[in-house]
Formats: sequence, C-alpha cells, structure tokens
Amino acid sequence: MADRRSLAQAVKALALERCSACGIARAEPLPGLFSCYSHYGPQSRAAYIGRSARERSDIRLWFPKAKSVLLCAFAYWPRPGAAPGLELSSEELRSWPPRYLKRKGPSAPGGYRPARFALARDYHKEAGARLSSILARIAELFPGADGRTFVDSSPVAEKPLGQLAGLGFQGKNTLLINKELGSYFVLGGIALDLDLEADAPQAGGQCGDCNRCADACPTGALSVNGLDITRCLAYWLSAAPDEMPEEMARQAQGLIAGCDKCQEACPWNDPARACGARHVLPPREL
Ligand code: SF4
Ligand code: SF4
Repeated sequence: MADRRSLAQAVKALALERCSACGIARAEPLPGLFSCYSHYGPQSRAAYIGRSARERSDIRLWFPKAKSVLLCAFAYWPRPGAAPGLELSSEELRSWPPRYLKRKGPSAPGGYRPARFALARDYHKEAGARLSSILARIAELFPGADGRTFVDSSPVAEKPLGQLAGLGFQGKNTLLINKELGSYFVLGGIALDLDLEADAPQAGGQCGDCNRCADACPTGALSVNGLDITRCLAYWLSAAPDEMPEEMARQAQGLIAGCDKCQEACPWNDPARACGARHVLPPREL
C-alpha cells in the first residue's frame, strides 16, 4: 500500500480531472465550526446551521467510516465565451425553471439579472455527477475503498472543511475565497475511508483593510459584526422559507435566484485577474 502522501496525491490527481481545485482535510470533529461562522449573528447562525449543527460538527456522524475528506471546488464563473451582459431577454426568462422564477425581485427597466451560479447547469446534478465519477475512479484505483459524496444538501460543514483543506480563506463577505478562483465556485466533496495526508490551510491572502463588499451591499447586511442573514438578498432569493419582506423586495429589483453584489465588488473576483479556471460548470441549457 502506498504511503499517505502518495495516496493523497493520486486521489487529488483523479479529482483534478473533473473539478477546478481540490484539497484534503482530516475527518475529525470541527471544534471551530462556530468560530468559522462567526460572521453570522446569533440569530442568523441559528437559522442557518442550527438544524443540523451537531451532525455538521463531525463528518463521521454522517459517514462513520470516514478517515479523510476530499473537498472539490467547481468554478461556475468566469466562463469562456459567456456574454458580457448578464441580463436575460424576456424570451430567455420564459424558459427559466419555475423554482427560480418564484424567487425574483420586482421587474427592472434593464431586465432581470440572475445570480451567476444560476447561469450554470444545476450544480447539485452537475457537480454531484462529477463527484460520483471521481469516487468510482478512486474505487477502481484502490479496490475496497469506500466513500460518500456531498454537495450542498448533506449535513456537512463544507466551508470550514474547505478552509482546512487549503481551498481558501473566509472573506468578510463570509464566502470562501480561493487565490486562483476568487469566490465564484461551489464546494462539494467525498468522505473517504482512506487515510490520506491532509493539506495545510491556505496561508495569507486575508481581507486586510478592504471593506468593498460591505460598501457594495445594498441592504447593509454586512458589517463589522458579520452577515445579518435576515437582510441578505441572496438568502431571500434562494433559501428563505418565508416570503421576502417588502423592504428587501424593494432592494431586489431585477434580481433572480440570488445577489452577487458583494462578490462583484471583491478584488479577488476582478475580471482582470480572472484565471482560466479548469472544468468550469457548463451553461444552463435554455
Ligand atoms: S449577497 Fe447581496 S445582500 Fe447579501 S451580503 Fe452580499 S451584497 Fe449584501
Ligand atoms: S471585498 Fe474585500 S473585504 Fe470583502 S471579501 Fe473581498 S477582499 Fe474581503
């Protein structure tokens, strides 16, 4: 059997055939889970992660055999050849999935501007299929290896694990920021029963004195206290179980499925340093 470092390198080489970046974390309890989310206020934190906080604190509660966690970043932007304007024509709008059309603000003169992630194919399906294929390849290479894939909908603390696996640092806008990819990516991964050498968390590259995301936020959701999710348009336009309050709806004019303003403002997403990320999620078929 190869040593832990060689195993880890082989697994990451397989993953990089299908994702934009990857890293490995130990499958251990995450005592720092809450401090990783310290940008959320107490109410927001409870609303956001309270339901499955205990499960999320240790991936072995979800996959007891786990020894290591492979974290994969799937970039969805910038996409080669994508139109510079993001506004949807009324014809395109008609062909959009109803679940997104239920989640939009009032109409705007310039048309609707969807969140960038929604311009790509459904990442649950696309990244989920790629992760299944990576797991199948790992099982071919290491007969007897077992694992369980996750992307967004499982009780797994993806962002803190991604941070531990060296995939980025958590910016003041609460998003994981990767020095090569910026923040326009989704995270998924595989809990594995293989004992792999873990990566080191990404050094440096913190926000410093920058405050551009908070300055750009139209609702004041970002402050020195972190993110107030009850004022975050991305929350109201994607995950909130209740109807958007009128005050938020006014600010959501022309938005569909989310809000990218704190990402657009971030220097790590500056188009001038946009890198040709590999394996970018393909565009949604209209
Ligand atoms: S997604 Fe929009 S509303 Fe939410 S924090 Fe970012 S800029 Fe503010
Ligand atoms: S805009 Fe500035 S402060 Fe906000 S996440 Fe990006 S680097 Fe950090």
